[in-house]
Amino acid sequence: MNIVLLGYPGSGKGTQAKALSEKFSLFHISTGDIFREAIAANAPLGLEVADYLAAGRLVPDKLVLEIIKDRISTETRGLLFDGFPRTVDQAQGLDDYFTARNQAVDAALFLDVDEEEVVQRLGSRRTCPKCRKIYNLLSSPPLKEGLCDGCGGKLVLREDDKPEVIHRRLGVYKDQTEPLIAYYKGIGTFHSVKGGRAPEEVAAEISAILGNRIA
Ligand code: ADP
Ligand code: ZN
Repeated sequence: MNIVLLGYPGSGKGTQAKALSEKFSLFHISTGDIFREAIAANAPLGLEVADYLAAGRLVPDKLVLEIIKDRISTETRGLLFDGFPRTVDQAQGLDDYFTARNQAVDAALFLDVDEEEVVQRLGSRRTCPKCRKIYNLLSSPPLKEGLCDGCGGKLVLREDDKPEVIHRRLGVYKDQTEPLIAYYKGIGTFHSVKGGRAPEEVAAEISAILGNRIA
């Protein structure tokens, strides 16, 4: 089973991906995390992509597709894509890759959240750079202020969760990523889930959708 998560930045893709990959034993692949880790490690990839992330612009499709193929080519579990594809060209590239291997994207799950809600969530989001756990200062704060419950890491506000960059990212989403809704509707694998609810409720609805597909 290969799954794609779609939705605005801040719609909850990362949170859901973490929960679902554990529940269904899927390989969670987050392009954003891959890029941030490469930047933190001063790896060549990091140097190549840092300016795009800082500005809230998309990393070029060709590079993204190379990274993705490299990561998934030896993976035998089902795949859960979080933050990829982000353009129609990326989605087509993924479909071509799967088609050549007799596979497919089995479900594209859209986390439907209002733009206002998303802006508010991104501003109050804090992340643990060590274990990637995501917090929200308003709805799911850590037990100890500023520290990760899981690993004790120091929580940070992502560079691109600052107001100017949030604005840019939402524009990029509307221009380049939103067309994927029509793309996956056309293929018939599209499901929309109301994302403006507690993470557990969203996860339960997604589990029901995926459970039906597995059965
Ligand atoms: P969010 O979904 O909260 O915006 P991500 O962690 O998915 O955050 O992405 C952060 C940044 O990484 C994006 O703004 C973009 O610069 C880059 N990025 C991540 N995934 C892709 C992708 N599939 N294609 C191009 N750029 C990407
Ligand atoms: Zn942590």
